[in-house]
Amino acid sequence: MTAVPQATVYVAPIVTMDADAPDADAFAVHGERIVAVGSVDAVRDTVPDAAIEELDGVVLPGFIDAHMHMQRAGLKAIDYVSHEDDVDVYMARMQDSFHDDGPEDPPFEDRIRALVRVQPLLHALGITGVVDPAVTIDEMRGYQEAHRRGLLTMRTVAMPFLDIGSPRFPDVDAAIEHLDGTGVSTGFGDDVLRLGPIKVYADGEALKGQALLETPWDDTGYSGLQRITDEDFTRLVQWCGAHGWGVGTHAVGGGAIALLARAYAAAGDAVAERRFQAIHAYLEPGEDSIRALAHLGTIASLQPSIIWHNGSGLRAKLGQRAERANPVRTWLDAGAVLALGSDGPFFPFDPRHLMWQTITRCVAGEDRPLSMAESITIEEALAGYTTGAAYASLAERDRGAIRIGMYADWALWSADPRRVASGELRALRIRRTDVGGRTVYGGDA
Ligand SMILES: [Zn+2]
Repeated sequence: MTAVPQATVYVAPIVTMDADAPDADAFAVHGERIVAVGSVDAVRDTVPDAAIEELDGVVLPGFIDAHMHMQRAGLKAIDYVSHEDDVDVYMARMQDSFHDDGPEDPPFEDRIRALVRVQPLLHALGITGVVDPAVTIDEMRGYQEAHRRGLLTMRTVAMPFLDIGSPRFPDVDAAIEHLDGTGVSTGFGDDVLRLGPIKVYADGEALKGQALLETPWDDTGYSGLQRITDEDFTRLVQWCGAHGWGVGTHAVGGGAIALLARAYAAAGDAVAERRFQAIHAYLEPGEDSIRALAHLGTIASLQPSIIWHNGSGLRAKLGQRAERANPVRTWLDAGAVLALGSDGPFFPFDPRHLMWQTITRCVAGEDRPLSMAESITIEEALAGYTTGAAYASLAERDRGAIRIGMYADWALWSADPRRVASGELRALRIRRTDVGGRTVYGGDA
């Protein structure tokens, strides 16, 4: 190996999330990237001229929230928190304003201010990347301008949302024509701002009774709301698959998830290549659908926050049928890549809380957890926020682990989440967050 000057060696226990070497004692950063990982001596030998910094805590890869409406989170931050408020205040205010979607048509400069305000709040949770799962044309302009001015510190994957049925995109053909006219597709961009799959809706929301189920909601025979016909959806998926676009589909209920399984099959290899997602996918998905989607390479983009919030209401509506809701275990056992996210700022977005939820299956307002048969381990939850979410971000070679060649995106935690009791997970603190070798929270930031 060649010596690399002007590097920094960080010394601390490291949870690398690299399956080949899950633990390390030091890593070195040169510029934006990690250049060495291993024992203190081995890392120092690799970069003999490096500065050495001992860190008080445990290093984890920066988390990626695979479903975070960041620009809306920023617009709400402008409305609900002042300059000195920290992330705990912000999270409490977002919980209190659950039903406020934020301003409909804000002035353009507010979009930039919004991002500048919210990014440090999210970095304070150890988050270094997001997938924004429904980016309008105006939001895309906001992201692009923030990036152009050098203000985007959060690595952002933007999923274009073409609202099929709206005046601008009255039907699937209008959406296809628009996508075709851009001349770009999923993956276009750079490591700060990149286009993800497009976002489509197959059904509605569970608590509104609009999730499309295979077994009717009740004895009226009503099964839920299908927001796009089989024919239109299959045509859109086929076109996207053939033209380099991925598709991420909001599909809450088993009926909608079965529709995805049928339609995604028509896109073949593009499903894995362009990181097609089943989004939410939490209410009575059939085992056959899960297996078929996993086999195709579909990402399970799941949000423990939603079941935390809706669990009690779903028990009231569906009784026993609610117990297996958000079947993370089943998705993983079928071989799907799990990308964890929050659907913040509307649903809770603290990763410590959401990892704890996937382990304990606890839901708000209930003494009894949902069925533990769908519980996962802390290691699996960590992978959902790091390697899995990086894969969903088309960035598995650059992010999601502390490994040579990857970006120096990391966070310093007060303890190793794998080594504390699940009850203590939510009390861990994040002390510092770096993106591309630059400190964006804590430390000297
Ligand atoms: Zn969402």
